[in-house]
Amino acid sequence: MKALYFEEHGGADKLAYGDRPEPEPGTGEVRIRLKTAALNHLDLFVLRGIPGIPIGLPHIGGADGAGVVEALGEGVEGIEVGEEVVFDPGLSCGGCEFCRAGEQSLCVGFGVLGEHNDGTFAESVVVSALSLAPRPQHLSWEESAAFGLAHLTAWRMLINRGGLRPGETVLIHGIGGGVSVACLQLAKLVGAQVIVTSRSEEKLQRAADLGADHVLPSDDQVARGVRRMTGKRGADVVVDSVGDATWMQSLKAAAKGGRIVTCGATSGANPAEEIRLIFWNQLSIIGSTMGSREDWRSLVAAVNAHQLKPVIDTVLPLAEGRAAYERMDQAEQFAKIVLSIDG
Ligand code: ZN
Repeated sequence: MKALYFEEHGGADKLAYGDRPEPEPGTGEVRIRLKTAALNHLDLFVLRGIPGIPIGLPHIGGADGAGVVEALGEGVEGIEVGEEVVFDPGLSCGGCEFCRAGEQSLCVGFGVLGEHNDGTFAESVVVSALSLAPRPQHLSWEESAAFGLAHLTAWRMLINRGGLRPGETVLIHGIGGGVSVACLQLAKLVGAQVIVTSRSEEKLQRAADLGADHVLPSDDQVARGVRRMTGKRGADVVVDSVGDATWMQSLKAAAKGGRIVTCGATSGANPAEEIRLIFWNQLSIIGSTMGSREDWRSLVAAVNAHQLKPVIDTVLPLAEGRAAYERMDQAEQFAKIVLSIDG
């Protein structure tokens, strides 16, 4: 099969497009003939190499995809060859205490498709049959690949962990990445007021077009801006996946009793801290990673029920995947970069 892969870690120049062996589904697994895939920031980290996470080389990246079931492994029931599907990109062991409790993203062996094994930047991929969901029929193939990891992460952050309620105010730092745009969409779905920040005027405009209620430039005045927009009250929920560059503004922008949810630290993981703000304002600092199978099922149900459509930045053919990685690396994109694989 054709695949986008790399044999050593580094930049996008390490990516090659060529033939790789077709994967065979094991017990409980299915092989999907992929129509589309989508990039996440994770794919850049995996290409560069993540200290402490050794991966087999050559490696095929990609967590997100959509396609047609092509082959069934042993013991797979209730799924037919030819079904159009999307899949939960989380990998979990199924046997630990957290998996048994339905908290797959807390699994002691948790991983992500395309990080810990070969992913979706290929003509086919093998995934667990338990991860599948029918492809939402209101979405194009490109859109079907674009709501996986980012929307699942956003769902768990805002709805499950963050407990966002209608009428609350959410601050989302650094709008433009897949997760932040997904958070904006889901927060509007819930009926929250949304404030977003960015260094880019263009991204702020696009966020406003998607329903952001207020926009602010990303700088050290964000908290002041949020106070001004909320009658000095602050934001009930702050989504911070930026880290060093935004953490202090998150602490200062949160309302009394507010919740700060983090799922990443793209600008650095050791920000300055102000503990007095945390105890005096009784803030909750909440971590979140990917999502459970229940989060995934709830997300797919919501995407269908509300006819939600993920936002697509660019569609490129798989053979031009290097350009897709480069666009992601330059943070030029607004929401999802999609790769078309079949036709
Ligand atoms: Zn487990």
